[in-house]
Amino acid sequence: MVLYSKWTACRPFSSENARARERPRRIPILQEEPTIHIIGSRTQIFGFVSNATRNLICQLILPGSVSTSKEGHVMRRAIMGSGIFGFVCAVVFGQAAVESKPNQAPEAARLITSDIPSFWQVFDKASLKDAAEMFQREYIDSGTAGLHDFLKSRIQNGRSLAGTIAARPRYYAAIRESTLAIDQTPAIKDAIRASFRRLQEIYPDAVFPDVYFVIGRMNSAGTVSSRGLLIGVEMNARSESTPVDELTAWERAVTGRIATLPNIVAHELIHIQQPREGDRSTLLQQALSEGGADFIGEMISGGTINKVQRSYGDAHEQALWAEFRKEMLGTDLDRWMYQGDRAKDRPADLGYYIGYKICEKFYHRAPDKREAVRRILHITDPETFLKESGYGGDN
Ligand SMILES: [Zn+2]
Repeated sequence: MVLYSKWTACRPFSSENARARERPRRIPILQEEPTIHIIGSRTQIFGFVSNATRNLICQLILPGSVSTSKEGHVMRRAIMGSGIFGFVCAVVFGQAAVESKPNQAPEAARLITSDIPSFWQVFDKASLKDAAEMFQREYIDSGTAGLHDFLKSRIQNGRSLAGTIAARPRYYAAIRESTLAIDQTPAIKDAIRASFRRLQEIYPDAVFPDVYFVIGRMNSAGTVSSRGLLIGVEMNARSESTPVDELTAWERAVTGRIATLPNIVAHELIHIQQPREGDRSTLLQQALSEGGADFIGEMISGGTINKVQRSYGDAHEQALWAEFRKEMLGTDLDRWMYQGDRAKDRPADLGYYIGYKICEKFYHRAPDKREAVRRILHITDPETFLKESGYGGDN
């Protein structure tokens, strides 16, 4: 068994890590000050650094790579001078992006896991020195089409991936078993397949693309591409005993258990059914898209990917709505969606919660439930939909 210690170069400094520092490790890399060596395409960081410094280093080394939405409807920030930076919201493609003859049989969608053992083979073989190259050659280049689609704004390349792992070596080492459980524990795939069948029952026009399970770099728990659903398993593979002290506060908040993997698959499956949206949709439109995916996703899978938002939202619903309604027709999503670890005073992604509540009200009010599902999946006029839902009284 390979010890995580070979990855310890970029481990953040904390009191918990002070204990870890006392353990023997294979590579003697303790130094007073961190040093960074960049040789060609390789980057090596030696010594212990704080979380903030580590993040700064990772941003400097990997410019434009900060993407912090749980699912990867990702805000991608680029470092340009001293400013902040436009973002590209890599939102969802919808049905139009699915292959020309979309599959409508729940049983025919493939659940593709071959990238997972391939990741662990490289993880076991690579050292800090050659990890970037090996991940690129033996994991990414030889990976599935779904893994390749997951590169943009997410994994990016072998160097980025190696950097992320080097900053969180014990976390990655600890999730191996959970990630392999997708193949070894039939209940996980059974639950995913059951949610597919359930969607077909409530929405007969549903399409079912292949699902690719990949291991990425802690910036996207799931998204969609023209090939299907892309699930970042490393963000959905925690257990009771997984060490999380290397993770940022945001990562700790959004990483899920392997048992909840079917919930994120269901959420992304709903996005596939939704129509394609413009690049600059309003806050209300975006909240309804995400909230609708949460609402129907929960209906078919029995669980939500946004527990933190749900419990905060339920405790502050009136105040949140009063705030949201003032901003909902604008296009500034910054306080409501995709903030990642930039949300300081309350959970990120509360726009999902408001969108969920509007869809829930719409559904409960509708006399024809099947038609209500169809309407939630095809919201083309958000303001009319909101009015019809009755959410917020007179709005
Ligand atoms: Zn989503």
